[in-house]
Amino acid sequence: MKKAIIALDVGGTKVLGALFDEEFNIIQRKKKTTKAYEGVDKILNQISKVIAKLLETAEESEMEVVAIGAGVPGVIKEGVVLFTPNLPWNHYPLANEIESLFNIPVVIGNDANVSLLGEWGHGIAKDTVNTVGFFVGTGVGGGLILNSKIYTGNMGLAGEIGHITLNPDGIICGCGSRGCLESYSSKTGILKYIQSQIRHGRDCQLKEELAENSSDYILRSSVIKEALENGDPCMREAVEIAAKYLGISVASTLNMINPEMVVFGGGLVEALGNDFVEQIKKHVILYSVPHATEECTFQLSVLGDDACLYGALTLVESNMISSGI
Ligand SMILES: [Zn+2]
Repeated sequence: MKKAIIALDVGGTKVLGALFDEEFNIIQRKKKTTKAYEGVDKILNQISKVIAKLLETAEESEMEVVAIGAGVPGVIKEGVVLFTPNLPWNHYPLANEIESLFNIPVVIGNDANVSLLGEWGHGIAKDTVNTVGFFVGTGVGGGLILNSKIYTGNMGLAGEIGHITLNPDGIICGCGSRGCLESYSSKTGILKYIQSQIRHGRDCQLKEELAENSSDYILRSSVIKEALENGDPCMREAVEIAAKYLGISVASTLNMINPEMVVFGGGLVEALGNDFVEQIKKHVILYSVPHATEECTFQLSVLGDDACLYGALTLVESNMISSGI
């Protein structure tokens, strides 16, 4: 019987699943919504439904699922979610919970770490030795590949690049600290800047849309791109600030790690593409030590939305070589 792996990308609003065959092709995809307020059991139930459906397909295709890998937001240590900002998990043994339901080995990791692992195993960073990843969306996630291995640190929180403090007197971040990279360079940070400019009386392009919508307005990457294309000065400034703070953070990371590659991914990077990376690079050169950018390439993620799924696959591959896949 042919072997297969189930990969999961668990998020605050949805869980994505994919069934991979032995040649690393996606045989089937499955998606379910997750709602943090519905509680721990309901979320596990949604994850289980995705797995059950993929197992059904595996059985029909005469494949045996030998392992499940998952990328999950938050701090993960040895299969336990110590903390996650968007789901009600606190010291939650997610890997064990799934294992006991399906009797299949489960390995989990932080979603940004896992996404970088995806690029390292199956994407743009294949065969690199030291690589850093920045994933920019609603927040800013990061990951470090050091000596050809994902580096998770002592507690599993290495690579929390989004919470590097860049301004100790800056705005309060979701993590409780102040002036984090994420407060400036995420879609949330960009939205905050636009809102502040509107409060100061500026005629930003999003003014009417924001006035008509309640405080839970979600800024989409496509809207940011459109405002830039329309020449909205507020958005141009917001994106320039985002690029500047990202550039400073990348520069500090280069100074510390001296990687051969920096991978940029996430919804905002995908929408703005190479122009945004070039904008970031300008600041990296300004704020890094001389020579730090030499022999270091700046690359866009090639796996896009699938980076986490391919990373979950890579996580399984690197943890369970003995399983025969
Ligand atoms: Zn923070």
